[in-house]
Amino acid sequence: MGSPTEIDAIEDVESFRSRAKNWIAANLPLAKPVTGDEPESEDYDEAAWERASELQKLLYSGGFAGLCYPKEYGGQGLTPAHQNAFNEEVVGYEMPQLLNSPTFSICGPTILDMGTEEQKKQHLSAMIRGEEALVQFLSEPSCGSDLAGVVTRATRDGDVFILNGSKIWSSWAYAADYALCLARTDWDAPKHRGLTMFLLKVHQPGIEIRRIRQVNGNEEFCQEFFDNVEVPVANVVGEINGGWEVASRQMFHERNSVGGGSQYVSGKLMGPKRRSPTEGMIDIARRTGRSEDRHVRELIAESHAMGKVQQHLVERVVTGMRTESLPASSASIIRLFSGLGHLRQTEIALEIGGSHGIVSLAGTIGDRAIGETFITRQAACMGGGTTEIARNIIAERVLGMPREYSADRDLPYKDVRRGR
Ligand SMILES: Cc1cc2nc3c(=O)[nH]c(=O)nc-3n(C[C@H](O)[C@H](O)[C@H](O)COP(=O)(O)OP(=O)(O)OC[C@H]3O[C@@H](n4cnc5c(N)ncnc54)[C@H](O)[C@@H]3O)c2cc1C
Repeated sequence: MGSPTEIDAIEDVESFRSRAKNWIAANLPLAKPVTGDEPESEDYDEAAWERASELQKLLYSGGFAGLCYPKEYGGQGLTPAHQNAFNEEVVGYEMPQLLNSPTFSICGPTILDMGTEEQKKQHLSAMIRGEEALVQFLSEPSCGSDLAGVVTRATRDGDVFILNGSKIWSSWAYAADYALCLARTDWDAPKHRGLTMFLLKVHQPGIEIRRIRQVNGNEEFCQEFFDNVEVPVANVVGEINGGWEVASRQMFHERNSVGGGSQYVSGKLMGPKRRSPTEGMIDIARRTGRSEDRHVRELIAESHAMGKVQQHLVERVVTGMRTESLPASSASIIRLFSGLGHLRQTEIALEIGGSHGIVSLAGTIGDRAIGETFITRQAACMGGGTTEIARNIIAERVLGMPREYSADRDLPYKDVRRGR
């Protein structure tokens, strides 16, 4: 944030809160109550994206979009405390949550940190106005955890790069306008030094998008195939062959966001109608007539305590990172806790709901029926990088333990043995 005079000029948080509260009540529709029988697909179809864009435009017209983004790129130039106040006041109202991740909390901050002035002016302001959604093209069929091992190639041809290869597990690619896409641009350089990050237009000749249907009906994931796709050199984010630096910053924002620490999330992170897991469990216990059961009460208390621990952990880690008393790699601590926390919350919900949790709508955890949440629970330990990788990062970069052995560290990538 800017000079002391600019900081002095920022509205105080309590006056902002009351202005936000009045505007929200007068302008935002109330969120539909959660029943748990909403089909997953309903929340992620084209209509849901159009609705998110409308709501974002509404927030923008009221001066409540991009609260923590700088004013010169269309944001409000406010602080995380203002964003927290807004998040508290907006509970129960409809919000464009689909845009939170990855558009606002991962791709936006990465462009803000690493993009050119032109890229920031174009993409940050378009996304804040509700006119652009961004996604991540990182994972590939042959690599996810080992992100620096990407084999999608981009070959320079004058003012453009020609892209060939495939990306997978890209959340919401079908609905996006642009993707941050990592590709290999120098095969003679070692793994981490031959990569470039591109701002890639998603809907253009040469890109085929296939949606992947999951066991619960969700079709958020896509696989993309690139056949001689043109990307202008002006769309390189950071330096040519310096893509690992950009990807590292992007992964920091992703872990911070998944862990619950991003100041760029407006309203709740994901799920259009999400409510707290503990609230859902109390509901489940009542509906199954188990609210007086001592063991059930202990489980609910465990869930409540876990929620509190997570809240304080996020506050502590985020403050530590902002004041630089903790390294940026500490985002992996909150990422780890959020993944394991979700697993435990889901197990607790199923234990309370018992067979009702599987076969009927005994209640919801988050905004889904328990059984449905249970069968996809592992995703929370994978998306945003797996919890195993988070443990490795904490060990190596936070606790200073020896680095994991890597056989391909200094070899030209064309000489690295792959898939053999
Ligand atoms: C909900 C969700 C959303 C996602 N969204 C996106 C997206 O928008 N864009 C995108 O590009 N990708 C996305 N992904 C993909 C995600 O980033 C990858 O699934 C993840 O990085 C793991 O990679 P992988 O699937 O290739 O597993 P692998 O790398 O094959 O890993 C398999 C297992 O081995 C473990 N493992 C691997 N290496 C090590 C090691 N060195 N030490 C210890 N354990 C190790 C892993 O932790 C894992 O348990 C998403 C995934 C999910 C679940």
